[in-house]
Amino acid sequence: MPYKEPAPINLDSESPFESMMERFEHAARLLNLDRGLFEFLKVPERQIIVAIPIQMDDGSVQVFEGYRVIHSIARGPSKGGIRFAPDITLDEMKALAAWMTWKCAVVNLPFGGAKGGVVCDPAVLTPVQLEKIARRYTANLLDTFGPEKDIPAPDLNTNEQIMAWVMDTYSMHARHTVTSVVTGKPKILGGSLGRREATGRGCMIVTKEALDRLRIPVNGATVAVQGFGNVGSMSAFFLHGLGCKIIAISDVSGGYYNPDGIDIPRAIDHARQQRSLRGFAGGESITNEELLELPCDVLLPAAREDQITAENAGRIKAKIICEGANGPTTAHADPILESRGILVIPDILANAGGVTVSYFEWVQDRMGYFWPLEQVNDGLERIIREGFHDVFDTAEQYHVSLRIGAYILAIDRVAQAVKVRGIYA
Ligand code: GLU
Repeated sequence: MPYKEPAPINLDSESPFESMMERFEHAARLLNLDRGLFEFLKVPERQIIVAIPIQMDDGSVQVFEGYRVIHSIARGPSKGGIRFAPDITLDEMKALAAWMTWKCAVVNLPFGGAKGGVVCDPAVLTPVQLEKIARRYTANLLDTFGPEKDIPAPDLNTNEQIMAWVMDTYSMHARHTVTSVVTGKPKILGGSLGRREATGRGCMIVTKEALDRLRIPVNGATVAVQGFGNVGSMSAFFLHGLGCKIIAISDVSGGYYNPDGIDIPRAIDHARQQRSLRGFAGGESITNEELLELPCDVLLPAAREDQITAENAGRIKAKIICEGANGPTTAHADPILESRGILVIPDILANAGGVTVSYFEWVQDRMGYFWPLEQVNDGLERIIREGFHDVFDTAEQYHVSLRIGAYILAIDRVAQAVKVRGIYA
């Protein structure tokens, strides 16, 4: 018996790492992956935990915990974001780092996968404290980061400003400016045009492909978006621009439902000014859970992991799920959605637009030559559409869901790289 069978389904208590591993094992079985390669790819290359002592505004010292997990460098330097949140764990980082490896392989970028984060609550930290955390985290990881080694980027609760501090700290120690050590930077420091919108644009591209495949007219297609951070708001913006009707949006303040369609530019203005959708008057109030179960053509979860579980999957009424977030669906929910004929565009394809333009940013920084927006967007569209078709073809060939098709495609690409490189001893 080469691989462990998936755990029996009762109530859904999977961690993100278990969800990732279950799909990995399923795809590895179908690929007939060599046992040694399976063992090699299932564990992260490195897991680093750092202590981040910060002097607070009142003079007291608080110590935060930071992580960086490098899952694989088989296909190139490791790539992946840094998130700041009070409830992140090493287990979550391990899952997210592996997802970055599979994501970069699905869209054929010459990167491995990593993820990092700091356990902190940015909502209660001042900009000065955030800067100190970003700088000390970077200083502790100077030997890990590098344009040829490991390249961070924004993720949950981190942004261009934080990437600028990462770049500056690394550069101060290198004693010269190293723009290509981090992506998602401000344009003025070597950031790429189109990076900020890239994940949402990628979600729009795959959603349009899926609607076309199901012969649902894009114009008037109904969409519910969970999460209104960078990914959720930009996906809603682009789909709204295509003529879709965004019937619901949400964030931590709750959900907003309007069957006639929400005015997305107005919602974005509101969220920008209030730093949340709280008080948004463009729709009636619903809960995040209710939003997930609305009848609609497309459900776009763009918040955190584990939103669609074995518990609520039976009540989801969307025809398509476009996973803007990383890991919004547990592995136990997968067969339920599949048996109900819901087309799931898996995270490692759906949200790959961000890392794709990160790749363009890294290339531009290394060339010292910057592309016009049109070139960035054309390149993004080509890569995401190619990824979509590669995943579709693999899924058809193996008679599996798009999710397992994406894993098969990715694992095969990474395994091939490992095989040709050989195992160094
Ligand atoms: N944080 C994003 C992701 O999860 C982007 C990573 C990157 O650009 O390196 O895909």
